[in-house]
Amino acid sequence: PDPSFSGRRALVTGAGKGIGRAAALALSGAGAQVVALSRTQADLESLERERTGIETLCVDLGDWDATEAALSKVGAVDLLVNNAAVAVLQPFLEVTKEAFDRSFDVNLRAVFHVSQIISRQMIARGVQGAIVNVSSQASQRALREHAVYCSTKSALDMLTKVMALELGPHKIRVNSVNPTVVMTDMGQINWSEPQKAAAMISRIPLGKFAEVDDVVNSILFLLSDKSAMTTGVSLLVDGGFLVS
Ligand code: NDP
Repeated sequence: PDPSFSGRRALVTGAGKGIGRAAALALSGAGAQVVALSRTQADLESLERERTGIETLCVDLGDWDATEAALSKVGAVDLLVNNAAVAVLQPFLEVTKEAFDRSFDVNLRAVFHVSQIISRQMIARGVQGAIVNVSSQASQRALREHAVYCSTKSALDMLTKVMALELGPHKIRVNSVNPTVVMTDMGQINWSEPQKAAAMISRIPLGKFAEVDDVVNSILFLLSDKSAMTTGVSLLVDGGFLVS
């Protein structure tokens, strides 16, 4: 496959479903040794059945101590995909502390924590690492009922830049992919209502939502040596939404 990741070990978070699962399968298909991390054991078991050789880690990334314990045993990682996230939609005036804390713990704090652990270990091993954070078009455009989600993704884009700045001298590249709506479980919960979906699609120049593979292809590009001189960017996979 092109690009090839043979000889490289990849950690993908939120790999039980959706984009993360597809990214884990694609990386494995392209020769990487994959560690799939997610929250629901049954999803990880079905992933192991779907592709032999994928290693799995079951942990809730909202739990700081459990994450630290799980990752202390993960071994060498060269490529990291911070994909796990939650989208809890609430009108701004009704946002709860629970939704705020859970969203920031999973979507942002866990990215800090996992990336710190993995980067320290990349630096100690002297490898050229690559990290891709899965952000969203929602980081750069206000969307109704997305106050918390938009805020987490906006912060994630800035974290991506500061990590690129500080980790660049250690030969670790850090970028994000920023998709439009994808009809995964998350996408279906939030965008199944036909009028809401049609209104969003009408604002996308390419006239459709993204496919899981569109996002996975961009993740693989940013993990690969094909993007060797690119760090600190947010690669839009939005069909042109943000220029419309
Ligand atoms: P899904 O909800 O389909 O899948 C998310 C995966 O992450 C699940 O396996 C889920 O496990 C896991 N996960 C969630 N929370 C945790 C946690 N605390 N600890 C460990 N694993 C966790 O989402 P998508 O595949 O659609 O989303 C993937 C990424 O893409 C996210 O960062 C999302 O914000 C982003 N994105 C999605 C878009 C969309 O329209 N779908 C658009 C733009 C960006 P479990 O189900 O067991 O909780």
